[in-house]
Amino acid sequence: MLLSVIVPLYNEEEIVEKTFTVLEEELKNVEHELIFVNDGSKDKTREILERLLPSTPYNKIVNFSRNFGHQAAFSAGLDHAEGDAVVIIDGDLQDPPSLIHEMLEKWREGYQVVYAQRNKRAGETIFKKFTAFAFYRIIGKLTSIDIPPDTGDYRLMDRCVVDQLKNLPERSRFLRGLVCWVGFKKIGVKYDRAERTAGTSKYPLKKMIRLALDGITGFSSSPLKISFYMGILTALIGFGVFIWSILEKFLSPETTVPGWASLMTAIVFFSGVQLMTIGILGEYIGRIYDEVKQRPLYIEDKK
Ligand code: UDP
Ligand code: MG
Repeated sequence: MLLSVIVPLYNEEEIVEKTFTVLEEELKNVEHELIFVNDGSKDKTREILERLLPSTPYNKIVNFSRNFGHQAAFSAGLDHAEGDAVVIIDGDLQDPPSLIHEMLEKWREGYQVVYAQRNKRAGETIFKKFTAFAFYRIIGKLTSIDIPPDTGDYRLMDRCVVDQLKNLPERSRFLRGLVCWVGFKKIGVKYDRAERTAGTSKYPLKKMIRLALDGITGFSSSPLKISFYMGILTALIGFGVFIWSILEKFLSPETTVPGWASLMTAIVFFSGVQLMTIGILGEYIGRIYDEVKQRPLYIEDKK
């Protein structure tokens, strides 16, 4: 049995060496390969990796030509992984590598996806904790697949899951969602998330928002339906305004400006109609989007 461990790295010169030694130490009794995906780091990450790796010829480095992002790094790792089980783990040791043994145990019991679920997050700002909390709740409400709350990308996947993921051609990849989408037997293991060992987060707000949007738009077309519901609401309000302006015209004709009633009614009514039509277009765009993603219609569990 071979275990592949994918580690994305972006400007992590302060910790690569430590990550490498900790992982090697942790996995010394498991046949494994480490796949370091250097996501276009501008610092010494690449040099350090190239110095470290020759002593362990089974490990791999994948160097990107520029920064393509965390999720792309995972995809590259999956493409290069040869293991029967694949673990993806952040390179900053925030996720304890010792958990891998527990994941392997679950995997041997027959679970095909074992995700790590965080109890606590140490050393992260209240803002990050709050946005993460809100994000998992919102995506849970908006989408039909159940993404387990408070799980990051740290997880173990069976070969069959990895092969299915590689089959999904879509561009904006939100791996956590895709793993849920492909299905299979899943279980979570709980852990406390530690602080970063060194360096700073490589996930500024901009990247976080992009990830959140990829997650929501990739798995839900509810935002496209907003204008339809707003249209219905506006049209109802339009009807109310219509009644009111007619009443006003007859009850107090001396104070009503001529033309007000018809103008008001027309504006509100047609706004409603327009929004509803946009909503209908949204329904079709949602379907086109589903087609374009080219996900398979179903996936068989051939175990
Ligand atoms: N990372 C990456 N490409 C990026 C941003 C981050 O490969 O564009 C890597 C980073 O080196 C780290 C992991 O993704 O190993 C998680 O990033 P980080 O720890 O900054 O995220 P946080 O834990 O703050 O959410
Ligand atoms: Mg981190």
